[in-house]
Amino acid sequence: MPFNIDWQTIDDVLLDMDGTLLDLHYDATFWLKTVHSIVASFTGESENEIRDRFQNELKKHEGTLAWYCTDRWAEFFGIDLIEAKKQLAHLIRYRPHAKQFLEALRPLPLRTIIATNAHPDVIQLKLDVVPLSTLVDGIVSSHQYGVAKEHPSFWTALFDEYSIDPNRAIFMDDSPRVLDAADRAGVREIVEIRHPNLSEPPRTTWKQGIDDFDALLPELLALGQQ
Ligand SMILES: [Mg+2]
Repeated sequence: MPFNIDWQTIDDVLLDMDGTLLDLHYDATFWLKTVHSIVASFTGESENEIRDRFQNELKKHEGTLAWYCTDRWAEFFGIDLIEAKKQLAHLIRYRPHAKQFLEALRPLPLRTIIATNAHPDVIQLKLDVVPLSTLVDGIVSSHQYGVAKEHPSFWTALFDEYSIDPNRAIFMDDSPRVLDAADRAGVREIVEIRHPNLSEPPRTTWKQGIDDFDALLPELLALGQQ
């Protein structure tokens, strides 16, 4: 369903990283396939056994910081996860029009902040491939605040640190649980990214969303020319 964002009433653009600015295919491939084959190659377990063990453990931590903590999973698997993730770095890439979207925001009187559940080591790994930091005003990992974006305390900590008025903010993410949390925290405009993984079809879970950033570009580019 089409919707309008009144950009003149927005001060802060808060953006998720994986599945929003970047293709989730990288993360999905790593966590669903690559990590299990690496572990299988030196433990002798089957990939399915390792995957089952991982899924059981993962379920216990859904929506918490532990779910996103690479240190924790490195210990669980007994491998250097960052080194393992580097093997797939060729799959790290922007989602369609994400870079143009960030560039279109630059000349506008808006602050752009990436708010991600990714561990700082993983953020750095991605920034080495996709230089996001030059296109935004800040990058926040929920690990800095000790709680995941799904938790209300993440939002109060973020609003405090950056003096954000949630009623003049927009937030975009591909996770319905995180979108719910931002909504409950009072963020005025919530936009679901409906095509997080470019190797899968788009899907809809939230009342307001876009497949790709090209849906928002014409208005932003027009604002930039005013
Ligand atoms: Mg995401």
